Amino acid sequence: MKTWPPFKLSSGRRCSQKQRPGTEFPLAETIYDVTIIGGGPAGYTAAIRAAEYELKVALIEESAKLGGTCLHVGCIPTKALLFNAEIWDHLKHAAEFGIEGIGAPTLNWAAVLQRKNAIIAKHAKGLDFLMKKHKIARIEGYGRLTGPALDGVHTVEVTAAGSEISPVKTKNVILATGSEAKMLPGLEADDRILTNIEILAMEQVPKSLIVIGAGAVGMEFASLFRTFGTEVTILEFLPRVVPVEDEEISKEITRLFKKRGIDVNTSAKVEKVERTETGLKVTYIDQNGNPKTKESEKLLVAVGRAGRTNDLGLENTRIELERGLIKVNEAQETAEPGVFAIGDIVARLPQLAHVGAMSGMIAAAKIAGRPFRPVRRDRIPGCTYTEPQIGSVGLTETQAKEKGYEVKVGKFPFAGNSKATILGSHDGFVKVVADAKYGEILGVHILGPQATELIAEAVAVLELEGTVEELMFTIHAHPTLAESLLDAYGAVEGMAINA
Ligand SMILES: Cc1cc2nc3c(=O)[nH]c(=O)nc-3n(C[C@H](O)[C@H](O)[C@H](O)COP(=O)(O)OP(=O)(O)OC[C@H]3O[C@@H](n4cnc5c(N)ncnc54)[C@H](O)[C@@H]3O)c2cc1C
Repeated sequence: MKTWPPFKLSSGRRCSQKQRPGTEFPLAETIYDVTIIGGGPAGYTAAIRAAEYELKVALIEESAKLGGTCLHVGCIPTKALLFNAEIWDHLKHAAEFGIEGIGAPTLNWAAVLQRKNAIIAKHAKGLDFLMKKHKIARIEGYGRLTGPALDGVHTVEVTAAGSEISPVKTKNVILATGSEAKMLPGLEADDRILTNIEILAMEQVPKSLIVIGAGAVGMEFASLFRTFGTEVTILEFLPRVVPVEDEEISKEITRLFKKRGIDVNTSAKVEKVERTETGLKVTYIDQNGNPKTKESEKLLVAVGRAGRTNDLGLENTRIELERGLIKVNEAQETAEPGVFAIGDIVARLPQLAHVGAMSGMIAAAKIAGRPFRPVRRDRIPGCTYTEPQIGSVGLTETQAKEKGYEVKVGKFPFAGNSKATILGSHDGFVKVVADAKYGEILGVHILGPQATELIAEAVAVLELEGTVEELMFTIHAHPTLAESLLDAYGAVEGMAINA
């Protein structure tokens, strides 16, 4: 891959003094306004926004391709495969829609993977284009902090391929090094024990799969492979699946997953993983305290993600960690002046691409001296792209009560929505959590068709502090799935129309 600036180094000095297009400074003398370490959604978004503020920006990424976990082994490939699964589901039910002659469709897994890879490649190229468009200096190599700024200038050490080291001078640094899958103690990923990386590269759809961990990642892979015929078992340590969601969502998706033939086990404590001749054997203690075993061809470990804060030179700084993640203030500043942190490495923020991107925009605004609005934890949408999907924002019913609100709840089932009938997709509901006193909408929780798209309306409603009364009189087009939100707002006052 072509990188800019040319980073072939000898004895710690750049071999090229060429002028970077769009700047009047020779490279060796360049002091960047901001240097970002990590080119995932947090890092590249921060870079672009900083360039839009007309700052001089460098982006250090160790991989030859920008995009991070999200583009290469996270959001994008999983959603690409989940869309294949959706099509597959539709084809299986084609006769119900009066489309005959489909017979028995067969899955060309290699072609499925090829399409996924083409999507990734297209967007990686798009990022290269955006870096050039915004005249961002793309530096390929591993970045590390060397210590506090001297006379307001930080030095980031970049180790390029071939172990050559070079300094990059910069007034501000944004750390955006992301995260990696946690493993269970004593296990290592290979062709049977998988993380998100290996599972996305499997050459065949497995006959059986045990998924440890029922957060969004575990649930999505469980949903996806079940659609393609895999015998799927979920083992979740906590008492419910998707534990960050409203309890009613966890309960209903458990019922629906079981209906689809997924073996869902909650309060299940994994004790041991052993290799068998053909696969793996997992021993766990079930919810009644009884030891159980389950065998499968593959095992996915989806028990959370650890921030990549290990080898960043943090020990040379005042940066503080909390459970391995970096503590920041509302402008994404760390305790080391001039050093910011964004994305998955930040403590107390959900590890989501859109949170990373927004935290990057905030850091860029702060550095540029422009206005910004801090991330509000209760305004972050959470999406799980299972069948059916989950989209939620704001407080759950329990959280609202714990915060002392007098809560009113409205719930509307998709069974009463005409567009859901047209789509043949009736499972799930919209649940609205509102404050009884002023009618403010505190949370919206959707399980059902296109929930991950529908939730955008609710995010705007919460951001604008919408009330039940305002929303009950907000016109929603007909026939749409969005009308289910209108009915759910009405249901808060016991006045849904279609149920
Ligand atoms: C299977 C899966 C599905 C997911 N689906 C979704 C989803 O649907 N929606 C959603 O919002 N989120 C999803 N996520 C989470 C999302 O991928 C992350 O929140 C997001 O990628 C975090 O962005 P980031 O920029 O902080 O880190 P990353 O995307 O991890 O990027 C960090 C980058 O930094 C580079 N890097 C690390 N250290 C250095 C260094 N020292 N020097 C130079 N470069 C370095 C890495 O190579 C990497 O490119 C998913 C995650 C997984 C695993």
